[in-house]
Amino acid sequence: MSAPLILSIDQGTTSSRAMLFEKDGSSVAVSQQEFTQIYPQSGWVEHDPEEIWQTTLTVCKEVLKKAADLGREVAAIGITNQRETTVIWDRKTGKAIHNAIVWQDRRTAPFCKELKDAGHESDVTSRTGLLLDPYFSGTKVAWLLDNVDGARARAEKGELAFGTMDSFLIWRLTSGEVHATDTTNACRTLMFNIHKNEWDNKLLSLLSVPDKLLPVVKDCAADFGQTDVNVLGTSLPICGVAGDQHAASIGQVCFEEGMVKSTYGTGCFVMLNTGDKAIASKNKMLTTVAYRLNGKTTYAIEGSIFVAGAAIQWLRDGLGVIQSADETESMASDLNDNQGVYLVPAFTGMGAPYWDPDARGALFGLTRDTGPKELARAALESVCFQTMDLFDAIRSDGAALDTVRVDGGMVKNNWLSQTLADILNVPVQRPMQTETTALGAAYLAGLQCGIYASLDDLTSNWQQEKAFSPTMQNEDREQAIAGWANAVKRTRSDLT
Ligand code: ADP
Repeated sequence: MSAPLILSIDQGTTSSRAMLFEKDGSSVAVSQQEFTQIYPQSGWVEHDPEEIWQTTLTVCKEVLKKAADLGREVAAIGITNQRETTVIWDRKTGKAIHNAIVWQDRRTAPFCKELKDAGHESDVTSRTGLLLDPYFSGTKVAWLLDNVDGARARAEKGELAFGTMDSFLIWRLTSGEVHATDTTNACRTLMFNIHKNEWDNKLLSLLSVPDKLLPVVKDCAADFGQTDVNVLGTSLPICGVAGDQHAASIGQVCFEEGMVKSTYGTGCFVMLNTGDKAIASKNKMLTTVAYRLNGKTTYAIEGSIFVAGAAIQWLRDGLGVIQSADETESMASDLNDNQGVYLVPAFTGMGAPYWDPDARGALFGLTRDTGPKELARAALESVCFQTMDLFDAIRSDGAALDTVRVDGGMVKNNWLSQTLADILNVPVQRPMQTETTALGAAYLAGLQCGIYASLDDLTSNWQQEKAFSPTMQNEDREQAIAGWANAVKRTRSDLT
């Protein structure tokens, strides 16, 4: 008899997705729904928590029906989610007190600057591995408490709960029985000490966040409660939770020190496993928890770029120069070179290694010949150049990066994958299963519920679909990189 299936919930930035996985890592069902991106002001990004919940519920029910139609048992649920996105809700009603503030949102840049100017950054970094940037949840929590009527008083009375999307979904799925998160989500909040593996009182007081708001922090494979039968029509154990990039690293089975994955969705995130050492970067990379299993933390260095696929979405939804993301592949390959056109997609500031929240996007090198093809190519190339900046920074921190495993919605674009290999000058490996984020959450749930005995079971599941080797001449690479460096210099707000 075949092993039971695992239901993975992937609550992403632009869509909620549910997938059913077999033990061997292949998927048997997927359901996905996009939801609204709300932009109330320049640099602000919100999601409606009810829409997130409804889309999640719908996709879960759809794949559970598929399992029933196939006559297959579902053993457990794993959850992975957009990280840092912050929601506060009422413990009695479960209703959010405000829209969720999304990780890309820059509204707390002035507060971050205030904290930096007061000299707090090095202490914050030594405790959290993070930087004082609006990206992380802590200052977003403070903003909600200060800007939603009565929120701070209610938080102090213990009437409200804070969570990233995993916590919010666990709360809703268990009908308020469980208020929990996992270490990988907690470590992105700016309130969690990654060395002690606990909420940090000094940081909570720096940000004026009452500890009554906070969820319990568990390992990634743990008991996160049972779903209420009235919610999904069945009671299933929630056994695995990890933030999306950590889940992708697990889905790519990056369990050995030195292994690196890079994920290309809305943003791009490079994560390098550094084993049991939390390495402090000298180049503004983040130190983060890769995963925590059986009470043991494995650390990683991470580079985060806010805009990767989002640049393609902008071409489609903002400019209307493409109908679908797939078109960019043939558009870019139709050109012999980039015609000197560079896009620096700093739509919500710049992430690693620049951390410049006030920068805004720019296009360089436009001529009368510049058209949709050049823009498509510049958008795809910007993703490669930004990754190169991260690799350079990680290398300067002493790590050897000689190959990279890629995944995410963008990497089915062969032109992008090849250009990545060319610009990074390392082989790029694309796995059979590129839905590694959802897969990672399923793996965690499978470990906890006994479908997998150990990480070795997972490692043997990984299969390469295609490898891309660098073919670009050094001279061409250097010229392209020089053009990018010049464009970045002209875009940064902190150099002018
Ligand atoms: P997320 O999980 O962040 O919502 P996904 O991993 O689903 O993102 O990837 C979706 C992103 O990938 C979108 O931003 C989309 O524009 C981009 N994308 C999808 N297909 C392609 C393609 N063939 N070429 C370039 N970009 C693509």
